[in-house]
Amino acid sequence: MKIIDRLLEDKIHISFEVFPPKTDAGYEKVRSATEQIAGLHPSYISVTYGAGGGTSKNTAKIASYIRDELGVESLAHLTCASSTKAEVQTVIENLKALGIENILALRGDIPEGMVFPSEDRYHYAYELVEAIRRSGDFCIGAACYPEGHVESVNKTVDIGHLKEKVEAGCDFVTTQMFFDNNILYNYLYRIREKGITVPVVAGIMPVTNISQIKRICSMSGTYLPARFKAIVDRFGDNPAAMKQAGIAYATEQIIDLIANHVNGIHVYSMNKPDVAAQIKNNLSEIL
Ligand code: FAD
Repeated sequence: MKIIDRLLEDKIHISFEVFPPKTDAGYEKVRSATEQIAGLHPSYISVTYGAGGGTSKNTAKIASYIRDELGVESLAHLTCASSTKAEVQTVIENLKALGIENILALRGDIPEGMVFPSEDRYHYAYELVEAIRRSGDFCIGAACYPEGHVESVNKTVDIGHLKEKVEAGCDFVTTQMFFDNNILYNYLYRIREKGITVPVVAGIMPVTNISQIKRICSMSGTYLPARFKAIVDRFGDNPAAMKQAGIAYATEQIIDLIANHVNGIHVYSMNKPDVAAQIKNNLSEIL
């Protein structure tokens, strides 16, 4: 089933995310985590794509396993910055052959030391969206950034580029994580005003350990509200307490989003079935 058909239903949609193993040796562990997450009956499960394209085979393998064996719809991520156009096309054809209907089209981060842009690669995600559109009857998602993408000069310019991406054939967008819902509400107002009408799925990251926070801040400069910082200050060196508080914080964000009629929520569950299960359980009377 195409994810867009589901997102257009007037219902609440909770989806989860897994990332593929870097090597085949790690496959079994990821498979087991994925199976448990599928048991929570999410609207779909997305499978990330390793930054250098090295996990390509496992992304496709897990996405088709989720769909064919676990009976849950899957969304295969695909990045284009680290591969040639021909390599990207091979991945698209493989996804098609496996019966994958949903692809999240991403540029990916530009590998260090790479001469970019270069002729044989797509430069921006909108070009990948166009390539996927030309290649078959896929439902295509893309990324968006309520706080602006790190490389962008400002939010207005970034929203302009998002519009191009949507016009290239994108069916829905999923946001980068954020920890203050007002940032999303403001962003929704601004993109709707610019005529971007596709469904926006809110990406929520349950922060369950201190190293995650350090990584998030160094990578994306995400704004951390005082209320969130207080939790990290107080519980950061107590792993069990941090996990409980991080799940509670994410749950509160989700409840507020749903109360404000944001019906698509994507939880960055990071191969952690226990975290996904606790969030689902916290919403048992709401969903
Ligand atoms: P683009 O949409 O191409 O945008 C990149 C930058 O270029 C932005 O600053 C944009 O404003 C600018 N831009 C766009 N079009 C133009 C134009 N025509 N002219 C000039 N500037 C332009 N990374 C992975 O490696 N694997 C994953 O699985 C993965 N999954 C993700 C899932 C989500 C929901 C999100 C939010 C991010 C994910 N990422 C993933 C990270 C993503 O690859 C990076 O954030 C990357 O730097 C940008 O990708 P993009 O698809 O948003 O790029």
